[in-house]
Amino acid sequence: MYDGDFDSQRLMFHPGEVAYWLEHGKSRGPLYTEMALSTRCNCRCVFCGVDYLVNKTHIEMDPADAKRVIDELHALGNRSIMFAGHGESLLHGDAAEIISYAARTMSTSVTTNGHPLDNGKLPLIDGLKWIRFSINGCDADNYAAVHRVPATFFDTVMGNIERAVERKKSRGLGVVIGVQLVLLDENAEGVVRFARRLRALGVDYFSVKPFSQHPLSECRLNPDYARHAHLEAELEALQGDSFKVIYRAGSVERIGKEKRYEHCHGTHFLCFVSANGDVWECNVFAGDPRFLAGNAREESLADIWSGRKRQAVLDFIDHDLDLAKECRDVCRMDECNCYLDRLKNPLDHDDFI
Ligand code: SF4
Ligand code: SF4
Repeated sequence: MYDGDFDSQRLMFHPGEVAYWLEHGKSRGPLYTEMALSTRCNCRCVFCGVDYLVNKTHIEMDPADAKRVIDELHALGNRSIMFAGHGESLLHGDAAEIISYAARTMSTSVTTNGHPLDNGKLPLIDGLKWIRFSINGCDADNYAAVHRVPATFFDTVMGNIERAVERKKSRGLGVVIGVQLVLLDENAEGVVRFARRLRALGVDYFSVKPFSQHPLSECRLNPDYARHAHLEAELEALQGDSFKVIYRAGSVERIGKEKRYEHCHGTHFLCFVSANGDVWECNVFAGDPRFLAGNAREESLADIWSGRKRQAVLDFIDHDLDLAKECRDVCRMDECNCYLDRLKNPLDHDDFI
């Protein structure tokens, strides 16, 4: 059973770690980590938020470093890891080995464009909690236009998903297989049709989320979500017992709105590791030296986590970062930050549980 409410937070299910942070003003370690294995991507999506980093270098994380970092994260109490980030991690030649290694000790997931998940890599799904395919075109031509790749990519990706679903079913795997689409003016027309196709394919869910402008990205888009509002009901009508549609209405609603908190505390519980070993306090600002906590090839994660450099980044986020001007709408920690801010600044009636 999984929680399909992607617009909520799950930090409240870790009360011991939150209580420690409230008491000490710091966490014992991250609970969740995102790790990128490669800086390369074989797509060039029109909406790519990390276009300023992807394919600018060709770096792959050394497998021995990756395993050591995974062990260090585990020792720090990290509970979950997602392989994704600033590139397509499955392009890494040893991705399956590294990801399967992580799955031995922590809840592990992958977000991928799905193209590299060929038969050789497919067994990596066996130990995952979930895998999410990022597909942002609704047919071959639309996919080619949005991902800026040859139209043949689409059939390859759909075939890879089909084989993942078959493997899951034939082996009784627990992995949840989902597809996520960033809703754009360029793909909205085909979304309902695509959802029907995914339901027939047997994936567990289809998530439709809004585009959120990345502050450092070179692309600038401004989709007209009022024009696409009818999709929510049309998509939800396709749901069934074995196929969820997760229309991120809460996220759509918050695009362009003020943040509901004055301080970002959520980064105390997260860790972001780039393919070159850089450890960032916030993944949105990977590449911005103000957010660089250290490098996992040079120092242990434990030293980075408790180190002065990371503390200086935390102080900067707490005192000097202008969340309204600089931060991304609906960032990864948006809901966690609301929760943590409320714990720090309770409202008058919060005692009436
Ligand atoms: S697949 Fe992801 S990383 Fe690659 S170009 Fe598209 S959005 Fe960017
Ligand atoms: S983008 Fe979000 S997580 Fe990152 S520093 Fe800003 S509020 Fe915090």
